[in-house]
Amino acid sequence: QAKHQGKSSYARFAPEMTEVSHERLQMESHMRKALELGELELHFQPIVETRSGNLVGAEALLRWNNPALGIVMPDRFIPLAEETGLIIPIGEWVINEACKAAQSWQALTGRDISIAVNVSPRQFRDPKFIDIVMHALWSSELRPELLELEITERLILDNSIETAEILKQLDAGGIRLSVDDFGTGYSALSYLKSYPFDSLKIDKSFVQDVLKEAEDASLVRAIIQMAHSLGLDVIAEGVESEDQTHFLKTENCDYSQGYFYSRPMTEQDFIHWLETNERAFS
Ligand code: C2E
Ligand code: MG
Ligand code: MG
Ligand code: MG
Repeated sequence: QAKHQGKSSYARFAPEMTEVSHERLQMESHMRKALELGELELHFQPIVETRSGNLVGAEALLRWNNPALGIVMPDRFIPLAEETGLIIPIGEWVINEACKAAQSWQALTGRDISIAVNVSPRQFRDPKFIDIVMHALWSSELRPELLELEITERLILDNSIETAEILKQLDAGGIRLSVDDFGTGYSALSYLKSYPFDSLKIDKSFVQDVLKEAEDASLVRAIIQMAHSLGLDVIAEGVESEDQTHFLKTENCDYSQGYFYSRPMTEQDFIHWLETNERAFS
């Protein structure tokens, strides 16, 4: 279209593009230093058993605290980290920190508290990925069944032999595998029977409207029934109200996570929450 309008409109457009790519470059160079400067931080959001409200684990959620940019949320920097490949060292840091944290909670409380870690496609396809995971378990001394890797349907869509092989090896190592944002990936369901997943996380977009939209209630109900008949656990994401928990209890949803229980917290606040608030939901 710019072509039809001649050179002038092209020139008018240029400064904006420069601004965008300048911001991008700035983000990228900041991000390159984020790791060594210690600007990355993990927050933890409780995952509870729906029926009892008891804590069973936490999801590790990455935050980037940069002096120039402030607290940057993952949706703003993970895509860029994925594009540039920086997600590989960042993801390695996340897995190591997450395993160390879960092991320290076990030492502190004597309880098994699992840790869920998000894995992006580029990280998953890195030839060193399995070694990185195994090394994190080894050096933290966390039992593999307390580590759960969250993978999106998008990643499974490629249907490659490599994907199947990596999942198989992780499963053989005793690590738990879950499908994150389940229901948003437009993927054929057949992968569920051939890949060694342990659980499905129902995307929050479905959970949020279970009481308002009959269709969402039916979808959530159907996902839970299907998952159970395949031997998979179900985790509901984005649970914000007591009414939603009631619905999820009635439908036998195994686990829940959301602002109703707690927002993601710093590790210190998470430990405090563990010691004080947990019983409020039983
Ligand atoms: P996700 O894995 O689906 O994580 C759940 C997101 O939902 C988190 O957003 C969480 O804060 C938010 N959430 C939790 N409960 C509620 C609720 O009740 N209501 C609403 N509206 N939202 C809720 P967050 O922390 O901004 O993370 C966004 C996404 O960034 C994550 O989605 C995940 O895909 C990605 N991400 C986060 N940490 C990492 C990481 O370490 N590595 C990779 N590769 N991706 C990450
Ligand atoms: Mg997740
Ligand atoms: Mg398994
Ligand atoms: Mg999700």
